Amino acid sequence: MYENLEIVRWPDPRLKRPSTEVEKFDSRLRLLATRMLELMREAKGVGLAAPQVGINIRMFVMNPTGQEQDDRVYVNPVLTEGDGEEEADEGCLSLPGIYIPVPRFRTLRMQAKDLDGNPIDQVESGYLARIWQHETDHLNGVLLTDRMGALAKLANRKKLKELEEEYARAHPELAAAASKKKSSPRLLRK
Ligand SMILES: [Zn+2]
Repeated sequence: MYENLEIVRWPDPRLKRPSTEVEKFDSRLRLLATRMLELMREAKGVGLAAPQVGINIRMFVMNPTGQEQDDRVYVNPVLTEGDGEEEADEGCLSLPGIYIPVPRFRTLRMQAKDLDGNPIDQVESGYLARIWQHETDHLNGVLLTDRMGALAKLANRKKLKELEEEYARAHPELAAAASKKKSSPRLLRK
């Protein structure tokens, strides 16, 4: 059912759309999570959020080590009790080739559901907490492009332009819609 899913890249408008809460914890949801874990692994990523496969629901998968037993799935995640701050470089499977320094909370509490709808309540720091924040950003339609300062924008200008051109070639109709909505001011200049 999800065999044809693929990772969507910026500036696909689905990446900018806030995602909705999951209400049904059924076999479809489990299939989607399994497929997302596969896609994440193939792309050598450590996290993947549902909007990154074009599905705007509040779920993400992650695996900080690449070992199968470390696969994690979070549904309807809520992050609270952010504490401390740390800056580190981040990349994104929807923005290949772009790495920018992003300040994040060092420690956070995560409350979410697992695939059966059972509650998850965890506290993590450092790298894991960073992945949580990056993926939760995706569920709110927030991307690394929104976290870029002027310097990072300038440094990644060429790469962003290439992604725009690649996207416009593949989806001429969606690119037109995205530029109308002004979700990507760079497209307006074309
Ligand atoms: Zn990402």
